[in-house]
Amino acid sequence: MLARLLQRNKQTIAGTVMHKPSKTFSEQYTDISSIAGFEHVAPGLSLQAILETVEQAPVAISITDARANILYVNAAFEELTGYLRDEICGQNESVLSCKNTPIEVYRDLWRIIQSGKPWRGTLVNRTKSGTRYLAELNIAPVLDANRRITSFLGMHRDISTLHQLEQQLKHQKALSETMLDLAPAIVVLLDSEHRVLMDNQAYKQLKAEFGTIEPVHLFLDALNDRLDQVESAPYGKFQDIQVRFDAPNGDECWFALSGIHVEELDHAAQNYFKPSSEGGRYLLLVATDITTRKAEVERSRIQHLKVQMAEQELTSSIRETLAGAIFQLETPLNVIQAALDMQHASPDALYPILRQVLESSHSAINAMRMALPKAEQGRNFLVNINQILKDLLIISTDRMLAEGVVIDWKPEPVLPALMGNEASLRRMFHYLIDNALLSLEETGRVQRELRIHTYLKEGAIWVEITDNGIGIPSKQRLKVFEPFQSGWKRGSGKAGMGLCMAQEIVNSHGGGIRIDPDYTGGCRIHINLPLKHGNGGME
Ligand code: FAD
Repeated sequence: MLARLLQRNKQTIAGTVMHKPSKTFSEQYTDISSIAGFEHVAPGLSLQAILETVEQAPVAISITDARANILYVNAAFEELTGYLRDEICGQNESVLSCKNTPIEVYRDLWRIIQSGKPWRGTLVNRTKSGTRYLAELNIAPVLDANRRITSFLGMHRDISTLHQLEQQLKHQKALSETMLDLAPAIVVLLDSEHRVLMDNQAYKQLKAEFGTIEPVHLFLDALNDRLDQVESAPYGKFQDIQVRFDAPNGDECWFALSGIHVEELDHAAQNYFKPSSEGGRYLLLVATDITTRKAEVERSRIQHLKVQMAEQELTSSIRETLAGAIFQLETPLNVIQAALDMQHASPDALYPILRQVLESSHSAINAMRMALPKAEQGRNFLVNINQILKDLLIISTDRMLAEGVVIDWKPEPVLPALMGNEASLRRMFHYLIDNALLSLEETGRVQRELRIHTYLKEGAIWVEITDNGIGIPSKQRLKVFEPFQSGWKRGSGKAGMGLCMAQEIVNSHGGGIRIDPDYTGGCRIHINLPLKHGNGGME
């Protein structure tokens, strides 16, 4: 009816200011309830009021004939499209088309509105100045009493900014999903009911391995006894909680869990004005698989234990051997003592005694040989000398701190691996570092320094160990490599075999060891280990 009235007064409405309609027209229909078909409208509402409402509505409104020829546009339409009503009225709505909308969309639009039903959709429009914008359009057919379409009511708004924001949001989402998928950790977002809202590839993979079980529930179960810690975490954040559970295949799994609680946004309409804190809490959970790391730590702990036990066994077997040797040597010594007591005995009488001394000495030597601990049968592998030295320095840290020793560790940045016996090389460097520390302990110096330097030269790895301790006098520099050469004042338990064994180990790797004759500030030892040599370092 409104369209009919407008159409009838097309000349008056189009091209004039709508909020000042023709006096004749408004006078004719002062009260809309007096018009046939509008009797139900509350008396007193004027047609002018309705026209003003349409005119001032903040959405672009157009009224067309049945072929989409424009009869009327409101002020918002003028503002959005840039067309003044007197230049667009009489033209087809297609003037707004920028020819980017697929023809199927228009076909669909027309099929629906011609069937008398409203259509809603998005079209790419063009303003008078040529600017493209996305129009969210609602078209409603206006029917007469015989249900024939007389006109169409079109309402549209510019949703370009909204679309742009949506696209940006999609882009951001795709980007964050890609980043999450690339993350080497498992990332899961849970709602307050512990339902998975978002996950990444790493989690999907774990889930595939677990079959029907939702792995995150295993995480939460494992976290269960630490929930207090999790719930009371400052800023709702917890970090690196290590949990263990058994996978369906029986394997032990270890994960380090970190997470943060995020306020859940409440989408319920009735809670629109409530503060967001009244909603639930999301849990963003990040899980890193540390099973391998844990296994390595456990392996190295056991390895360390084995080494410790082997060292204890070696010490006790040496003690046993020496105690046996002392006992064995007592017999011939007693016999010699007895012979000496027989001051006037004839040589014939001494002869059986000497024989007895000889026999008991032989048997003592044999017994000692039998008691000797077996030599270590090491296998050769690729060995990293920097790693060995670094490990030894770490082990000696407490001792160095206690003695006030400053360490200057300068490793060659990239040192090739060497084929050798790791255990004996470690033992050899242990002797040398131990000697340097003993020397520093025996010096009265306040400033105690230990410098270890590795470098590559002429196809060999060189290690330089320098200390500013008591040093080795020049006449002793060769002798110290002989067995049982111990000059330590505080070296109880030191048999003086360290440098002798070190030389043996270096030689077995085809290398050399020497004391720097030119260094006078303490002791500097040079060791070279060729990267390629004949026997591969077998002892
Ligand atoms: P056209 O050749 O005009 O139409 C493309 C296809 O649409 C045709 O092949 C045909 O299948 C169908 N079609 C077109 N006109 C009719 C018709 N009279 N009867 C049956 N089928 C028909 N278009 C916009 O691009 N932007 C708008 O903002 C917009 N607003 C509209 C508002 C109203 C109230 C109505 C009724 C239509 C509106 N249209 C709008 C549609 C517009 O009238 C055109 O159909 C459209 O722009 C395509 O025009 P065209 O010249 O590119 O192609």
